[in-house]
Amino acid sequence: MPRYELTPEMLAELPRPIPYPTPTAQPFWDALARDELLLQRCGACGAWVHYPRRRCTTCMSEDLAWEAVEPAGTIHAFTVTHRPTAVVFADQMPQVLAIVELPNGVRLSTTIVTDDPAALRGGDAVVGVFDHADDRPTLLRFRPARG
Ligand SMILES: [Zn+2]
Repeated sequence: MPRYELTPEMLAELPRPIPYPTPTAQPFWDALARDELLLQRCGACGAWVHYPRRRCTTCMSEDLAWEAVEPAGTIHAFTVTHRPTAVVFADQMPQVLAIVELPNGVRLSTTIVTDDPAALRGGDAVVGVFDHADDRPTLLRFRPARG
């Protein structure tokens, strides 16, 4: 038996890597828990900023405010993985790792929730899925808008 081959019971016992929000990013994670997507926008130049930062990546202003954004966009890029990035994800294969682009140009690293990864195409419309769990922050995944 290869060293990475674990029973489902063994996998369930392993700790999974989870996000640990920084103080700067806390409003983003708090919003996801409310089924809401908040992104930072610069009050000086209007640029959207993601991931959360203390300064605008365009003009270096500290005048950043949180704005609600519709969790919907298009698939900018994706790949279907059949080997887990970590052994604790072995029970989630295949997994669709993706970059979703929102209408405001912000791109989010995420996963696509689908039963048919082969049907996905770049540019497909997707909508947000707020993935709640008791033992970690809410994650924002996406699913095809058509189904
Ligand atoms: Zn700016």
